[in-house]
Amino acid sequence: ADWVAAHGGTGDRLVVLAGPTAVGKGTVAEYIRRNHPDVRLSVSATTRQPRPGEVEGESYFFVDDAEFERMVEAGELLEWATVHNASRYGTPRKAVEEAIAAGNSVLLEIDIQGARSVRRAAPEATLVFLLPPSWDELVRRLVGRGTESPAEQQRRLETAKVELAAVEEFDHQVVNHDVAEAAQEVVDLMRSRKGRR
Ligand code: 5GP
Repeated sequence: ADWVAAHGGTGDRLVVLAGPTAVGKGTVAEYIRRNHPDVRLSVSATTRQPRPGEVEGESYFFVDDAEFERMVEAGELLEWATVHNASRYGTPRKAVEEAIAAGNSVLLEIDIQGARSVRRAAPEATLVFLLPPSWDELVRRLVGRGTESPAEQQRRLETAKVELAAVEEFDHQVVNHDVAEAAQEVVDLMRSRKGRR
């Protein structure tokens, strides 16, 4: 509520894309970044190591623990969370505020805890939940991308079960059958923001 008060009720220009692990949020966000350059996409700070192909300042701002802690202490993050009990991720406040002040909507691709924090800070934010076509497909995607060990995959699937229940808290659901179609649905929601509660 503080955030909204400080920003003249512009919290409705915040659009959050969240969903369970391995549903393809990152892929949908990346697709939007490449194909819809008019959409402002927030670039998060993270303490995790870059993966091959990730670009500093585009995929993430890669920072160490001390720098992340400094950002938290200085109030530079709109929200932040420890994801999968490992690395920390947060949304830099300044870029979001500047985009909104310039009259743009901003898309945040963040985890479910982050979505809840945004809801608290800006109740009129639009929350979009990305769903897998089915549970089996989610398992297939997680195992198929092969970036986690079997033990980590198991842990993430347990988390995903809990995360799927959060769909109730969201304003919109988008099923990720196809990346381009899901991305288009998210972009359309950002442009219209109709049917919000
Ligand atoms: P990855 O390490 O695969 O890029 O992302 C792991 C998880 O962190 C994803 O669920 C992603 O949505 C989430 N995430 C990325 N940036 C942020 C952020 O700024 N805040 C929060 N709360 N979660 C984030």
